Amino acid sequence: MKTLSHKIQQIEESQTLAFTQRARQLQQSGIDVASLTAGEPDFATPPHIKMAAIQAIDEDFTHYTENQGTAGLIAAIVKKFASDNNLHFEPPQILVSCGAKHSIYNVMQAICNKGDEVVIAAPYWVSYPEIVKMADAKPVIVEASHDAQFKITAQQLRRAINEKTKAFIFNSPSNPTGAVYSQGEIEELADVVAETGIYVISDEIYEKIVYDGTKHFSIGSIKEIRDQVITVNGVSKAFAMTGWRLGYLGAAEQVAQAAAKVQSQITSNATSISQRAAEIGLKGPMKDVQEMAGEFKRRRDFAVAEMSSIHGLKLCAPKGAFYLFPCMEHFAGKRLNGKIIKDDFDMANLLLDEEHLAVVPGSAFGARNHLRLSYACSMKDLQKGMERFKRGCRKLQEAH
Ligand code: PMP
Ligand code: GLU
Repeated sequence: MKTLSHKIQQIEESQTLAFTQRARQLQQSGIDVASLTAGEPDFATPPHIKMAAIQAIDEDFTHYTENQGTAGLIAAIVKKFASDNNLHFEPPQILVSCGAKHSIYNVMQAICNKGDEVVIAAPYWVSYPEIVKMADAKPVIVEASHDAQFKITAQQLRRAINEKTKAFIFNSPSNPTGAVYSQGEIEELADVVAETGIYVISDEIYEKIVYDGTKHFSIGSIKEIRDQVITVNGVSKAFAMTGWRLGYLGAAEQVAQAAAKVQSQITSNATSISQRAAEIGLKGPMKDVQEMAGEFKRRRDFAVAEMSSIHGLKLCAPKGAFYLFPCMEHFAGKRLNGKIIKDDFDMANLLLDEEHLAVVPGSAFGARNHLRLSYACSMKDLQKGMERFKRGCRKLQEAH
């Protein structure tokens, strides 16, 4: 058989999906696995959104739509960006895609040349570096430390930029750390963006899930860099619609149209039925969204309190999104059952094999010896998961 492409051999499989799949397979074989892997709200999609989809099917709205998205959904997105984010777009500046992941992929294909560099702050969402590599560009990782609450500074960003830099991927609230940048911090980053002329891909998919009075601020609302910012969002997280596969972006027309060209040759439009549902979601009452955010806060408070009782673990309490990202350094290098637990991969495997708890190793997010636990699952699963996590940590604690 002929070999596979060099490119695909350099791309990692998504570890969030891989660990979720492993947990699912164990569950299907009858093992009671607590899965805190995928960032997937356990709530049902709100009923009025489901009704819109059913109605779309009944009306035979089941064919191709405009590549860029339906006029109704695009109008709803224009309005949402203006009212929620102080971002002012015209319809040709919007592109609807099959998930925010797809939006980011389209943009990268549209803006990157071979050899371009794209700055990514670590810990990062698993897919950013791989999407950059798929566009023949080079991810340049800037580390945000635990002590800096997992946020990079304007100086760090400035130092990472050179003449090859095309873009910076910015994600606040962050997956996996839950860090949320303040308006002031964002304005400092924006000064660097203005000075260097690079693009910013601002992934705002967790904007609705923020805690403790923290406010989400869109970097694209800063006038000086408005045309350089591509704002990405989607319905997966806010509306519990992960399976519907619908994301969108707003950008300078030239960028949005270039991304649309990529999409026109790869997938065509996002699913017609999902577009109708998303339109109703974006236009409709936000009560469900607020209730879900309130429930995430309850779970966060519970999980943070549980974790604080574990000796040796370091945790930065998340201000947004729905993940915990504890530093597990203290537990690395211990010998358990004759085996050295050398790093986060070994810890994740140990938790899965011995405690039947599925989590994602931090290395997949560019942070060795951390683990990511999602609390987007039910409270019951979270309680079970935290019990098992504490037991696993206790075993490691007592090992030598
Ligand atoms: N960005 C971030 C930071 C995410 O965590 C996710 C995970 N779903 C996505 C984008 C992609 O979301 P989707 O493709 O489901 O819209
Ligand atoms: N974004 C979610 C996560 O990080 C879903 C899985 C994925 O798309 O990576 O768990």
